Amino acid sequence: MLKGLKKYFGRMKAVDDINMEIKPGEFLALLGPSGCGKTTLLRCMSGLERVTAGKVFFDDDDITYLSPKDRNISMVFQNYAVWPHMTVEKNIAYPLRVKKYSQNEIRKRIIWAAKLLSIDELLNRYPVQLSGGQRQRVAVARAIVIEPRVLLMDEPLSNLDALLRVRMRSEVKKLQQDLGVTTIYVTHDQVEAMTMGDRIAVLEQGKLQQLGASDEIYHNPSNMFVAGFIGSPQMNFIEAEITSRNDGLYLRTKGLVVPLLDKFKAKVSELSGKRKYLLGIRPEHIYVAGQAQPGKLAATKGKVYFLELLRSDTVIHLQKEFGFLVVKAPGDLKVEEDEELEVLFDLNRIHLFNKDTGEAIL
Ligand code: ATP
Repeated sequence: MLKGLKKYFGRMKAVDDINMEIKPGEFLALLGPSGCGKTTLLRCMSGLERVTAGKVFFDDDDITYLSPKDRNISMVFQNYAVWPHMTVEKNIAYPLRVKKYSQNEIRKRIIWAAKLLSIDELLNRYPVQLSGGQRQRVAVARAIVIEPRVLLMDEPLSNLDALLRVRMRSEVKKLQQDLGVTTIYVTHDQVEAMTMGDRIAVLEQGKLQQLGASDEIYHNPSNMFVAGFIGSPQMNFIEAEITSRNDGLYLRTKGLVVPLLDKFKAKVSELSGKRKYLLGIRPEHIYVAGQAQPGKLAATKGKVYFLELLRSDTVIHLQKEFGFLVVKAPGDLKVEEDEELEVLFDLNRIHLFNKDTGEAIL
């Protein structure tokens, strides 16, 4: 558990008052853009960084000022940090030797960890004789061999090529589930966080923006930062007014009128029409007319300005009075640039933000 954790470097607030409860055995992904404070937060948990204020607890134990070696944690970094002058076996044995385990116990644990990570055939090799993926497996084996209380991982897969990264993702996740070790995993890659994390903590400028399961973060982002950071292509943000008519409430801007479903009305009816609001909708929640569509919809038309033909999907940039509207359509859609196209907003998937504060209203 983190309580009011702060880490300042001079005036730079790298970690700014973070409160967070991490559940025993969970895989928590720390996600955010470069420089948001992920690594610093991880280093504060590991004891490699002295905190400016606040506390770090493991269960009920206050470990804020305990040295790293007394925390019973293991870390895996982006640059594998396996020692080049030691064989795989010696690399894995190292933390056990430091902790003065018996020869028998060391042997037993090496075999256990090496089998688990499928590197038992490689124990006599030196790191230079291994592929990147194998080296990263050695680093993970060395981290788990002491059966740490908490496993801290800092972008451990980012040096691997794209295919291997996808394979290692599932391997690391499965291993963590089998071991049941509480894991905190730093990444700037939203796909990695979404696919691996039981929960995701989104950070920006040293502050925790949202902590939740991936579907919560995707469907109910707490603010514009989270809404814009998660999802690809990015959510559309459209400045809109709230207007009221006899038959209900609407979000309106030039060239677009979106009725609000009854379930949203309670949250919106109190709002002042004079403030600025942003309507948010993800590209995958706008459908091209004529395609299969679910639920309640609102139509709008625009000219196709640009097409990204990814073949698996077609990303359409529609020119509207208020700017561009990005729509994610199926790859086999027949559509051409300069064509006039009707698209439909899924009214169940509408978001609304306060433009001044960025906070989500819907
Ligand atoms: P990345 O994904 O690029 O590794 P990050 O989210 O892990 O970024 P941090 O490395 O935690 O970010 O850095 C957070 C902020 O603190 C950055 O602005 C960084 O420049 C600053 N910072 C980190 N370490 C130090 C330091 N030792 N001295 C001064 N500033 C630092």
